[in-house]
Amino acid sequence: MKTIGMIGGMSWESTAIYYREANEIVRDRLGGLSSAKIVLASLDFQEISELQKADRWSDAAEILARTARGLEQAGADIVLICTNTMHLLIDEVQAEVQVPVLHIGDVAGEAVTSQGLAKVGLLGTAFTMEKAFYRDRIASHGVDVIVPGDEDRQIVHRAIFEELAVGVCSEATRAEFQRIIASLVTEGAEGIILGCTEIELLVSQSDSPVPVFPTAKLHIEAAVNFALRG
Ligand code: GLU
Repeated sequence: MKTIGMIGGMSWESTAIYYREANEIVRDRLGGLSSAKIVLASLDFQEISELQKADRWSDAAEILARTARGLEQAGADIVLICTNTMHLLIDEVQAEVQVPVLHIGDVAGEAVTSQGLAKVGLLGTAFTMEKAFYRDRIASHGVDVIVPGDEDRQIVHRAIFEELAVGVCSEATRAEFQRIIASLVTEGAEGIILGCTEIELLVSQSDSPVPVFPTAKLHIEAAVNFALRG
């Protein structure tokens, strides 16, 4: 089994999904006491989110790149950036290591096309929904991407940082996500990418009339497939 390196802590609430899923998949596939080989570097999300807000992306890139190097030195055969947003910096991270950095957007894009869908709604942080890096990556799989309008994007962004990343899951916010998903479906979305690793803590398939794509689970599942392959 190969070793998975994870740059986590953004937030730790969703990194916990990665850790649990990896171990459950390995246990189910290999049986006995088998568990995933993981090296985890968990960052301080306060520090990272302040850099995001201040538009200091190159400082954040330096931290992530240095962290990836440490994971590689610790034996990681693959590196995951355990957040959609910070894939804005994947090129800087990949430049620092020899091992592959598995793009969460490629995993999501492949999951969408494997279900034969051509148009999806994207929910995530404002950075993910508004900057081109993520939408373009999904579009490169031949999928049209739509995002909610201004006000709804703010609602989603605020819910991520003020609730989900600090462990708060509320019924009122779930209802807001259901409403926003329904309006994306009205606009033609055939699937919904939960393009922030915390959203799947609150939203599940039962909240959507079309397939949802939980990126944290898809990302770690793809990494485990890599780790268990030959
Ligand atoms: N976990 C979130 C994501 O997947 C947000 C955290 C961040 O801003 O890095 O985008």
